Amino acid sequence: MTNDSALVLFSGGQDSATCLAWALERFAQVETIGFDYGQRHVVELEVRQDFLGWIGAHAAWGARLGADHVLKLDALGAISETSLTRDVAIQMETGGLPNTFVPGRNLLFVTFAAALAFRRGLRHIVTGVCETDYSGYPDCRDDTLKALQVALNLGMDRRFVVHTPLMWRDKAATWRLAEELGGAALVEAVRARTHSCYLGDRTPRDWGAGCGHCPACELRARGWHEYAGTDA
Ligand code: ZN
Repeated sequence: MTNDSALVLFSGGQDSATCLAWALERFAQVETIGFDYGQRHVVELEVRQDFLGWIGAHAAWGARLGADHVLKLDALGAISETSLTRDVAIQMETGGLPNTFVPGRNLLFVTFAAALAFRRGLRHIVTGVCETDYSGYPDCRDDTLKALQVALNLGMDRRFVVHTPLMWRDKAATWRLAEELGGAALVEAVRARTHSCYLGDRTPRDWGAGCGHCPACELRARGWHEYAGTDA
């Protein structure tokens, strides 16, 4: 573990929850940031408080967990034409991107996180973006995040390090990482206390909670069954 401090982009989903545990294993002080941009699955913002409460009570990690910050990004909702913030069905668009795509969303999230990290004196920025499951989101690519790190360090005259521990892991490997970090207790906390479903559905499933048929639920269920060695 280092004496450094980190800011984790924590949405309340499986990936960012696992990243939070990853950061708490590595850094002496860890703060979190979430974004409220009028997403339909606002339940994610409620679930994230539940997970933060769980990890704040963790014997080893609780003492390293610092402030949580929630930024309202209404402008993002205003410019998006997607099914996350409008009442339309999720579907694939021509060009291969799902209509859940908010252009450049992760660029904005990481940039706002860096501005907050600057203010708070935090050096490391951790995000759960993943090229393996990225559904064609170009702002989740490894090259995008590396370029953004260079741009942020030039533009803010800092030496931020942007960490993407899940970049080359699929969802099953992300469950295995949670097990390595925190054993069965962390796996169960991530399973029960995080949210992925695009529709904000909290119907209990063996892999967590959700509608069971949106792209996020399908991805999560597939990863869980692969990890657990069970059939869908
Ligand atoms: Zn769903």
